[in-house]
Amino acid sequence: MNSAMIGKIEKAHRYAQEPGRVQFQNLTATFQGGHDDYQVTFDGEHWSCSCHTFESHSVGTCSHIMALQEILAPMLTTDARYASELQPV
Ligand SMILES: [Zn+2]
Repeated sequence: MNSAMIGKIEKAHRYAQEPGRVQFQNLTATFQGGHDDYQVTFDGEHWSCSCHTFESHSVGTCSHIMALQEILAPMLTTDARYASELQPV
């Protein structure tokens, strides 16, 4: 392997320690819940989930969205890190 590529790999390892460099614009994920799999999406502004809680309670979030927000927190903007109704003041 040439030295330029080795340098890139080292840089990648350093970047990987700094997840705040990455910001998701949107994402689609399959979330394996306790009873079923759910589709969680983020379109850049709004989160959505296919689970019953999300669809029947109009709070704009559910445990699957909250879990993803926690996992991805360093890679989400402050607005995207919380459902609007649960935004800390
Ligand atoms: Zn859900």
